[in-house]
Parts: sequence; structure tokens; C-alpha cells
Amino acid sequence: MTKPLYEGKAKQVFATENPDELLVYFKDDATAFNGEKKGTIVNKGVLNNKISSFFFEMLGQAGIHHHFIKQVSDREMLVKKLAILPLEVVVRNIAAGSLAKRIGWEEGRKMPSPVVELYYKDDALGDPLINDSHIAAMGLATPEQVQNLKDSALKINEILTAYLKTKNIELIDFKLEFGTHKGQVLLGDEISPDTCRLWDTVTSQKLDKDRFRRDLGNVEDAYKEVLKRLTGEVL
Ligand code: ADP
Ligand code: UDP
Repeated sequence: MTKPLYEGKAKQVFATENPDELLVYFKDDATAFNGEKKGTIVNKGVLNNKISSFFFEMLGQAGIHHHFIKQVSDREMLVKKLAILPLEVVVRNIAAGSLAKRIGWEEGRKMPSPVVELYYKDDALGDPLINDSHIAAMGLATPEQVQNLKDSALKINEILTAYLKTKNIELIDFKLEFGTHKGQVLLGDEISPDTCRLWDTVTSQKLDKDRFRRDLGNVEDAYKEVLKRLTGEVL
């Protein structure tokens, strides 16, 4: 087995024969609270690979430029190699998680309009919240790139929110990563129950990683339910 170029908390990234392409392998490892809580979610790698592949294909059809090329196995996808911008772009429709704490709103309160936040992707610092002015001063991205990320993130939010509603899923919030490939900014990484908050529209049941973070149980079943609602596939 070849050594990964990079091993993260949830995925391994491998070089391929093509210098412009990478192979991403999805693991079952789960972490939360900046790596303090560790565990395994059985088949999470398979579920997140399938769910992410589905979302990338859907977003591509809606005109979003992304890194996804194809799903090559249950746990692997082939992607365009990006120079990842060290930013996490979070969009929020309903207050939850760290935002609910920060602004003192109860979890579940609707934001009158979607909120976009930027975090500095740095594990050692615990991914702190930053703004455009920090990004400019730190040289993390150009002002044009930041505007592009925010515009794309809001467009992706519109597409995903509308689609998920048809599957009785409310998109509460989610995190995106972007990177550059041959001068173009592309959406990268993954879109899955690890990186989104997804609530059943009728029961408000959580169908995402909060089940792991908060020890709510039935974590694997929740991820399976998302795959089933999106693609009809029963894993
Ligand atoms: P982390 O690094 O936060 O532990 P993962 O385990 O998900 O996260 O590791 C995957 C890594 O691959 C992340 O650092 C992510 O930014 C990076 N990545 C995602 N898509 C691409 C891509 N197309 N090209 C290069 N790197 C990517
Ligand atoms: N998120 C993520 N990776 C991170 C931090 C957050 O995918 O490193 C996602 C998280 O799943 C949620 C959204 O971004 O859908 C907002 O997360 P929040 O800031 O509330 O952080 P949390 O309380 O989940 O750590």
C-alpha cells in the first residue's frame, strides 16, 4: 500500500499517476472538539464518500465548479489536486453549535438571512473565526478570492437548501473548503453529515455528526438515512 501524501482526521490523500489529480480515501475515524474526542463510526467512510459524490455531481449540474472527478470505489474518489486555501467557509441558516453560543441565541432559531463565516484552517490554533481584514493582513487569500468564496458559498447554500427540503431535510449549517487549480478557484474537500448539520424537517431529529459530538446514539443510522433519502441506496 502506498503511503498517503497526507493523512487527516477523516481522510487520506494519495498521489496518482496524474500530477493534477489526487485519490481521496474516506476513513471511519471520527473526531470532534478539535481532535479531543475520538471514535469510529462504522461505514462512515463509505457513507460520506457516497453522499459527497452525490452532492458534488448535483452542484456541478447547477454550475458550481468543484474538484470531484469520479467515485472510484466505496471509499475512494478521484479529485483535481487543489492548493487548498487555509480557510473554512461556514454558512448558517439556523443558529446552532458555536454560533448559538457566541451570539447567545437558542439552538434552532432561524437566522433572518444566511450568515457566512470564515475560519482560519489551523488545527494548532483550533480553527479560529477570522474576518476579511485578517485574511488580507495574513495574506491567506486575495479580496477577490474572499468575495468569490462568499458568493459561491451562498449560491451552494441556496442549491443545497432547496434540494434537501424536497427530502424532508433542513440544512442548518455547513462548512466548505476551496482551493486553486490552474488559476481557478474550485470547491474541494467533502460535503457530508460530518460537515453539515441536517435536521429532519418534521421531527427535528439530528441526522449528522452532532449525534457523535453529543453522544446521542444511532450515529451510523443517521448517516445511512441521509444516503437513503438522497439516493435511495440502503447501505
Ligand atoms: P483534516 O486535515 O482537517 O484532518 P481530512 O481528514 O478531511 O481533514 O483531510 C483531508 C485533507 O485534504 C484536508 O486537509 C483538505 O483540506 C484536503 N483536501 C481536500 N480536497 C483536496 C484537494 N482536491 N486537493 C488537495 N487537498 C485537498
Ligand atoms: N464544521 C466542520 N468542520 C470544522 C468545524 C465545523 O465541518 O472543523 C461544520 C459543522 O459540522 C457545522 C458547521 O461547520 O455543520 C458549523 O460548525 P460550528 O462552528 O457550530 O462548530 P461546532 O460547534 O460544530 O464545532
